[in-house]
Amino acid sequence: MALRSILIHPDPRLKKVCDPVPDLSDELRGLADDMLQTMYDAPGIGLAAPQIGIAKRLIVLDCVKEEGAEPRPLAMFNPEVLASSDEKNVYEEGCLSIPEQYAEVERPAEVTVRWMDRDGNEREETFDGLWATCVQHEIDHLNGVLFIDYLKPLKRQLITRKMQKLKRERARD
Ligand SMILES: [Zn+2]
Repeated sequence: MALRSILIHPDPRLKKVCDPVPDLSDELRGLADDMLQTMYDAPGIGLAAPQIGIAKRLIVLDCVKEEGAEPRPLAMFNPEVLASSDEKNVYEEGCLSIPEQYAEVERPAEVTVRWMDRDGNEREETFDGLWATCVQHEIDHLNGVLFIDYLKPLKRQLITRKMQKLKRERARD
């Protein structure tokens, strides 16, 4: 397993629609393992393949936050939202590609998601709470959508300018 470096917004690779994964391979399973390790290391609760520059429909997440609770790492290949609740939920979201910027985003409170797991089995589950927000945020990444795309243009531009500055500073170091 290896840590991968996470792309920072703005980056054209974060705006692409990613390709479906036709078949699983050891290489793809290794990629999912690397992504989980990178996510835990960050630390974060979700990561999508385009965030490490790979335009494939793969996300990982683990929204277990309680101290001492058993972790629940999930790797989802080709995740798809099958149904969303009319009821909405607002969470303050952040993103590993937009470090230290947070904003409230409204999304469906419950979503049913279908995906292929790392053993190639089709899985389906209904998520709520933080899990629902996180899985929708990560699936958005596969379609080139970031949480700041839900914000008003001025707020989005402000965050984008901060990230451009951060990237310039990091490039200098
Ligand atoms: Zn994100």
